[in-house]
Amino acid sequence: MGSDEKQLEVKEKIIIQITDTHLMDDPNADFVQVNPEQSFHAVIEDIVAKFPHIDAIVHTGDLAQVAKPETYQRYQAFMTKLNIPFYQVPGNHDHPAFFPFYQPEPNVGVLSFGNWRICLINTAVHGKIDGWIQSEQLQQLKIILQNQQNTHVILACHHHPLDMQSKWIDRHKLKNTHELQQILTEFDNIKLVICGHVHQDSLHAWKTIQFFSTPSTSVQFKPLSDDFALDNIAPGYRSLHLKENGEFTTQVHRLQNFVQHINKEISGY
Ligand SMILES: [Zn+2]
Repeated sequence: MGSDEKQLEVKEKIIIQITDTHLMDDPNADFVQVNPEQSFHAVIEDIVAKFPHIDAIVHTGDLAQVAKPETYQRYQAFMTKLNIPFYQVPGNHDHPAFFPFYQPEPNVGVLSFGNWRICLINTAVHGKIDGWIQSEQLQQLKIILQNQQNTHVILACHHHPLDMQSKWIDRHKLKNTHELQQILTEFDNIKLVICGHVHQDSLHAWKTIQFFSTPSTSVQFKPLSDDFALDNIAPGYRSLHLKENGEFTTQVHRLQNFVQHINKEISGY
């Protein structure tokens, strides 16, 4: 590798988004006939093989399907061994009492990678499937954004802020997107929003902001479906390549040769 190439590499920050691991308390147990532990580990293996340098792994929620302390402890022990900084926001299946928040609630977490910032936002409301950003977090976010106008900003949260054109999942979206948009509209340095929850790859745009959802590391949901439906497509993750000048590229990667035996009989989430 020439020195020019090396310099180029250093200037680019690489962030990996994983989401919806839905880990069980028992690592041998299945979730919708997929072993989420195995598929999660397979995804991490693929990430480590493809990316020799990673600045951070960001998990956008539903870390646990069985939200017990041991589920979170196992996740943290596994991730710690990778020697890659890792962060997470909670999803509707997570339990706030056990979840490893980056910042104590209700604080918005702010991560720095060169002149990029990632704001970690909690959209989960305990006991509910749909999402809501508490007013304290919105107020904090606004102050953070006011102080970060010379940087490029990513927001990371669990629930999808924009409609997926999938009736059942849109019932469970972020319900106060309009309040978030009221804040975002005041700033021109917010580049993208990444979320989980919908177990599928998607891109939507609002003003100059791109909204990405990302495949789960476990089961996948069928896009554009009015009713709950699983998709027989491999688990995956997203890579983000962030350039100093605020440009970025992103790609979804799916496991190759992953055999999935999903139960098509299941009728609810
Ligand atoms: Zn999920």
